[in-house]
Amino acid sequence: MPPFDVPEGDPFGPHNLPYGVFSLPGDASGGRRVGVRLGDHVLDAGAAAAALGSPYVSLLARPDLGALLAAGRTAWSDVRRALTAWVTVPSHRTVIEPLFHPLSSVALHLPFEVADYVDFYASEHHARNVGSIFRPDAEDSLTPNWKHLPIGYHGRAGTVVVSGTDVVRPSGQRKGPGDPVPVFGPSVRLDIEAEVGFVVGTPSERGRPVALGDFREHVFGLCLLNDWSARDVQAWEYVPLGPFLGKSFATSVSAWVTPLEALEPARTAPPERTHPLLPYLDDSAPDVEPGGYDLRISVAVNGHTVSEPPFATMYWTAAQQLAHMTVNGASLRTGDLFGSGTVSGPEPGQRGSLLELTWNGRDPLDLPTGKRAFLEDGDEVVLTAWAPGQDGARVGLGEVRGRVVAG
Ligand code: MN
Repeated sequence: MPPFDVPEGDPFGPHNLPYGVFSLPGDASGGRRVGVRLGDHVLDAGAAAAALGSPYVSLLARPDLGALLAAGRTAWSDVRRALTAWVTVPSHRTVIEPLFHPLSSVALHLPFEVADYVDFYASEHHARNVGSIFRPDAEDSLTPNWKHLPIGYHGRAGTVVVSGTDVVRPSGQRKGPGDPVPVFGPSVRLDIEAEVGFVVGTPSERGRPVALGDFREHVFGLCLLNDWSARDVQAWEYVPLGPFLGKSFATSVSAWVTPLEALEPARTAPPERTHPLLPYLDDSAPDVEPGGYDLRISVAVNGHTVSEPPFATMYWTAAQQLAHMTVNGASLRTGDLFGSGTVSGPEPGQRGSLLELTWNGRDPLDLPTGKRAFLEDGDEVVLTAWAPGQDGARVGLGEVRGRVVAG
């Protein structure tokens, strides 16, 4: 199917236009190029800009999304408007059509250089499940701070990998309740966390917090994110300072970054706030735009869907997370990535981690490929998602795929 004729209802139609970075395996230069997905094709965006004499060639004829991310919100809108015209206006067809490549013929790469990486803990259902599992005797499954600030930690930017990259099973220390001393070896509780990653474009100045209402001045778009987690390593190391080696070995992201502009129809109000918030986090005021996004995620293990987490149920929004992460004066850099935290809905079939789905291994999943409490070598996990668009359309968010290999 030629790209200009993407069928009606395709989740990657001209209403979406996510950005990625690709190379052509046969290309002797091996060069990386910015690509824009349309249907099951990718447009060489830099070549298109050059062919049409567009001023955006300086943002698009690049080996990654860095220049576009740094260009700011006005440029993001202008480039998107231009791209929409290039792939829909019939007079461009003869110039543009040869610049499309079938997705099946290209290699996809990490689309931007990840600057700082932060991960949050924003689903109340997830936090309550984890609290009940790890602190069964606690009076409240939520910690006392949970409803007052979006809890997060700084992760490891250098191990963020693109979808399709194998994940080597990590080794580390673990100490089960019956072990008198810690032992070292490959993790036996390797897990996933289904999340959404937000990509910062416009930097901020050190000492100047980013206000709730400035979210879309700074954040370019979002991707899918799998926060691989070694639960046994994590359980032994994380008190009192939080996740470290149990998380830092790999974080997978989708190859496509969906611009926030494509997700305008998916914006929604977050769940009702049960506790009053300090002013810098308070999104209940009538002049604050709704900060939630209605994204429907699916989690598949070895091709079998095990969960469908609804992002709209997240208690803390990405705008609140951005405001909180900068409220102490910490600055943003182009390429900063922050994860939403595991997305878990209220129903058992909406949990975004095996920890919750199997209740820490007590209730293994019965998959066609065998029972699973946690991941085995060779298992492949695929997260996919879509968001509602205009008039019943769907906005596809691509996938993040990863296979576990022996360490
Ligand atoms: Mn996480």
